[in-house]
Amino acid sequence: DAALYSAKTLHRGGAVCYDEAHEARRRGRAVLEQALRGADLAAEFDLAFQPIVTAGDGRIASYEALARWTSPLLGRVSPADFIPVAERSGLIVELTAVLLRKALAALRRWPEEIRISFNLSSHDIASADGLARIEALVLESGVAPSRIVFEVTESCLVNDMAEARRALLALRALGASIALDDFGTGYSSLSYVQHLPIRTLKIDRSFVADIDTNAASLSIVRSIIDLCRALDLTCIVEGIETEAQRGALCAAGCSHMQGFLFSRPLPQAELAALHAVALPRPAAMCTAA
Ligand code: C2E
Ligand code: MG
Ligand code: MG
Ligand code: MG
Repeated sequence: DAALYSAKTLHRGGAVCYDEAHEARRRGRAVLEQALRGADLAAEFDLAFQPIVTAGDGRIASYEALARWTSPLLGRVSPADFIPVAERSGLIVELTAVLLRKALAALRRWPEEIRISFNLSSHDIASADGLARIEALVLESGVAPSRIVFEVTESCLVNDMAEARRALLALRALGASIALDDFGTGYSSLSYVQHLPIRTLKIDRSFVADIDTNAASLSIVRSIIDLCRALDLTCIVEGIETEAQRGALCAAGCSHMQGFLFSRPLPQAELAALHAVALPRPAAMCTAA
């Protein structure tokens, strides 16, 4: 109860709170890992798709595929929670295969001009076997690899840059392209941009949250956009939620946008409507973007 709890904290100091929170997290992860090990991956996991739009006219340029888990034991679990657990437990490789199959099946049903961005973990490309599996799945699917963008994060690359480079070159040789996700967070070495076969940078949404009120965030985003233009990279800004953010990004010369303002990630059944009808979007996109 509350009185006891505060007496305890007073008595034992702040470290107790930390330990208890830490212990709760550890237990949470253990529960997730157990549910994940027992899961029927193909049945419980699915993909949601979030449009990436061109700033000029709001056309859908591609969709990012995002993993969704509905566990019979735990209900809906966020990827922010289960992806790290899947990575630590080694289950991610199997999960990636299941999800990639679903993404490829979706692509087969959709018009040729629609592309998908698919997130990979470092574990997925850390071994030759893992990489070969991804290549085999793409080739077996009959989907043109040019319709696939593999998104990797900087933390994905930091362990062994030479190895990562070989893996990304192999994916590019297949015909897919590579996007560097969450750019600006984590290790953010510009040498990744220079030495890896990357076509696209995705600016992390942490810079976007306060872009209309924080001059520093705006400067950072603008300089990344300029960098992309100079290096002939596609630049996607993610996490756009408001008109004010969209306006600031238009002014900064942003070419591709993703965020709740345009659409939340949607189940596949709802996409057909998006393909047919225009995306619900602000009437005016960036003029002269
Ligand atoms: P991410 O790859 O950076 O994906 C973008 C995340 O931002 C998604 O969260 C998306 O729903 C969210 N988002 C998009 N627009 C907005 C916005 O306007 N506002 C806010 N607040 N959020 C927005 P989600 O789906 O929860 O995924 C979280 C992360 O989990 C992803 O970040 C990615 O790192 C990882 N993830 C998701 N699916 C997969 C997967 O299939 N494989 C792997 N390896 N990782 C995945
Ligand atoms: Mg991503
Ligand atoms: Mg991202
Ligand atoms: Mg992210």
